[in-house]
Amino acid sequence: SEWLIFSTWWVGDNISNLMQSVGASEKVFHLMDLASSSQFITRGVKLQSLTGQIEFLNVSFHYPSRPTVSVVQLVNFVVHPSEVVAIVGLSGSGKSTLVNLLLRLYEPTNGQILIDGIPLKNLDVEWWREKIGYVGQEPKLFRMDISSNIRYGCTREVKQEDVEWAAKQAYAHDFISALPNGYETLVDDDLLSGGQKQRIAIARAILRDPKILILDEATSALDAESEHNVKGVLRSVRSDSRSRRSVIVIAHRLSTIQAADRIVVMDGGHVVENGSHRELLLKDGLYARLTRKQADAVA
Ligand code: ATP
Repeated sequence: SEWLIFSTWWVGDNISNLMQSVGASEKVFHLMDLASSSQFITRGVKLQSLTGQIEFLNVSFHYPSRPTVSVVQLVNFVVHPSEVVAIVGLSGSGKSTLVNLLLRLYEPTNGQILIDGIPLKNLDVEWWREKIGYVGQEPKLFRMDISSNIRYGCTREVKQEDVEWAAKQAYAHDFISALPNGYETLVDDDLLSGGQKQRIAIARAILRDPKILILDEATSALDAESEHNVKGVLRSVRSDSRSRRSVIVIAHRLSTIQAADRIVVMDGGHVVENGSHRELLLKDGLYARLTRKQADAVA
């Protein structure tokens, strides 16, 4: 599965980290440690209940492959339970890196991430990842019908009405219903637009009923639907009482996330602003500048 690959990367990077940080004699010892105790990956705390509160506390990070470049520096922000928080900033400002840290593909170099007040590094990785629905920019769909694509990876018994509920939440139900075979339509290469693929992936994530939903809005300028998708999803996350989950959106179009509870603005690895759309416009800083620039580009 995707997660297996992620786990492997994660271990791989930590091993290369160790290679750099310990002497030759210790190296083998540490690797044996890693190999013999799967605790590194699987053992850890499983919380009885999870509210979905996320706190970045003085988090700094550099990628193992580039130890001299600090891509995230002293980042602080909180996502309260059921909040929608957007992360915005220019390309390379560190948005995806924050999500990588949250998914625990990497460990912060300094500082920590707290989940319901518990250090993320103490949580059971598999348990944690089950609580997260992550939809990347180019989600993978499979050559099977749409319904099966939405059910994919869901371990519990799922009724067709649940599939349709998730599709409605993801703003996918209408276009799916309009296809000749509806939910039984086979997905092949040119059936769906990028935005439609992303909506199916969002439905797939929502069906698993994750406590935390992370969306990386598609950047491709060609995909005018993307803005509509993300806006719609944020609206339905708000209106549906079943969906009490925290949402983090990496947004590339600022018009998408005006209704977010909070917008975290990244610049060069730092959080430079944090507030609602209205607050940040009043502040007249980077967010206000970026908003004006995008409005001009559209006009
Ligand atoms: P974008 O909007 O283009 O997706 P971003 O704000 O998400 O950008 P990141 O992808 O977090 O930014 O990148 C932050 C910095 O980290 C960049 O300088 C990038 O080159 C670097 N970086 C990202 N991933 C890696 C990696 N796996 N190894 C080394 N450096 C990386």
